[in-house]
Amino acid sequence: MWGRLSKKISAYSSEDQKLINEAYLIAEKFHKGQKRESGDPYISHPVAVAEELIALKLDATSIAAALLHDVIEDTTITKEELKKKVGPAVVKLVDGLTKLERVRFEGFKRKVESTRKMFLAIAEDIRVVIIKLADRLHNMRTIGALRPDKQKRIAEETLELYAPIAYRLGIGEMKGELEDLAFPILFPEEYAWLKKEVREELPKRKQCLGTIAPIVERELKKEGIENFEINFRAKHYYSLWKKLQRYNLDLSKVTDLVALRIIVESPEDCYRVLGIIHMLWRPLPGRIKDYIAMPKPNGYQSLHTTVFCEHNVIAEFQIRTKKMHEEAEFGIAAHWLYDEYGKPKKGVRGNVEKTSWVKKLQEWQREFAPSDSEEFIEALKIDFFKDRIFVLTPKGEAIDLPEGSTPVDFAYHVHSEIGDHMTGAKVNGKMVSFLHTLVSGDTVEIITQKNKRPSMDLLSMARTASARGHIRSALRKLGIKMQTKNPKKAKTKEITFRIVRTSRIGLLKDIATLFSKENVDILKTDSDITDVNKPHLVIRCRIPRGCDLERLMVRLRRIKGVNELEIKA
Ligand code: MN
Repeated sequence: MWGRLSKKISAYSSEDQKLINEAYLIAEKFHKGQKRESGDPYISHPVAVAEELIALKLDATSIAAALLHDVIEDTTITKEELKKKVGPAVVKLVDGLTKLERVRFEGFKRKVESTRKMFLAIAEDIRVVIIKLADRLHNMRTIGALRPDKQKRIAEETLELYAPIAYRLGIGEMKGELEDLAFPILFPEEYAWLKKEVREELPKRKQCLGTIAPIVERELKKEGIENFEINFRAKHYYSLWKKLQRYNLDLSKVTDLVALRIIVESPEDCYRVLGIIHMLWRPLPGRIKDYIAMPKPNGYQSLHTTVFCEHNVIAEFQIRTKKMHEEAEFGIAAHWLYDEYGKPKKGVRGNVEKTSWVKKLQEWQREFAPSDSEEFIEALKIDFFKDRIFVLTPKGEAIDLPEGSTPVDFAYHVHSEIGDHMTGAKVNGKMVSFLHTLVSGDTVEIITQKNKRPSMDLLSMARTASARGHIRSALRKLGIKMQTKNPKKAKTKEITFRIVRTSRIGLLKDIATLFSKENVDILKTDSDITDVNKPHLVIRCRIPRGCDLERLMVRLRRIKGVNELEIKA
């Protein structure tokens, strides 16, 4: 089995290969004699998981951990022994996987969303999540050997927990396969019906698109577009099934059963190709989607369009660059493939420190884990799960931030030095306040001054956990005391919130609910509409002893309709 594996890792450095080999030898030795339910030797399973990760081009530490993912749980080797042999980095990942294994998801249906978050929080390292997904993928591929009731439980968990996580991480290929493996187990009749329908329809559609592809190819060449690839992508069964339920099971209404995918070199080419297709055929109104300018929250990028072709055939096109394509298939794992400038990396590098997602997760862990796990999950929610916005640096580099971020978050995201020294912010060329809420597509420029220092105020203007973490540590360095560490000393005090709001029914109620939860006494509310463009809500209230004002402000800002927030003593 090593022979097959060793061929697949030839792109890794010799040091990496040595580590993977060492891990393999340990796994082989300690799983010796163990069998899977299918009767296969147990080692076939960790090897298959490792192969999946090699296909995703993950680093050697992850691959070694994949090979060893069941040894602590299922064999006699101890953590200390393992650490001596493969080092602490691998063991840390194995440990994370073992911890996840112990979490029971029985009855999780009621709180599926928090279970997904918890899953990520426990994993602690995004690589643990990816290894776990690969583990589940192989278990699903071999699920036939299990008892039917066990199959059902695992398939359900796959559909509700694992597939959505793969989707969140943008690993589209894995999400699709996980769902398609669970589908026939959970909905056998529906699956059988769909398969029969598609068996008749799919070849027809493919044939139609087959006549269109050469026309597109000829036209692209004529327009001077080079190095492109055209292929078909058939929709995954489960996502087709979900779509059909919205269309009264009428397959003729699903226009993207098969789509033509055009992969080009640059984003500019994507738009040119879109133009060329629209010159050839009339687009269906409302079906042009620009996920390049506005990527989906999970990072997916492409141009989509649906057109009326010859003989009234409706065809869907997906246009993207090679990088976008790999990111759509590999998602977060694709960050191992490219350097920070978006150029493909040579070979495979073990260095994952630089990939932004991984770095972010690690930062959060340092800030919140493990003593304050509720805060950690909160942070994941803000920074990881809420819809993200995409803003640009003056150089045109896209930066993704959580929705509702301010220029302060942007500054710290670019570099903590820039955040620490910021004196002003411009959005689309105009000066704005630090509390300005950024929206997708904004170009943000931060003005800095060398001798400027961060202050307490800055803390209330940042929304992301990482910016707040940076500010806190800068304040600490400057010797500035932060409030509420010692609640006994703090006194009740009266303050006024000035809130720039969007008019919304229930806004006041939401604010009042939050205040009552935090034991904040509302003394007086007022409305200030002197500036029609910026209607203010003025709330005078009494803050109780030990109330974390900073946290209260974060919660307030999270309420829909609260756009800007200011405090007056
Ligand atoms: Mn396993």
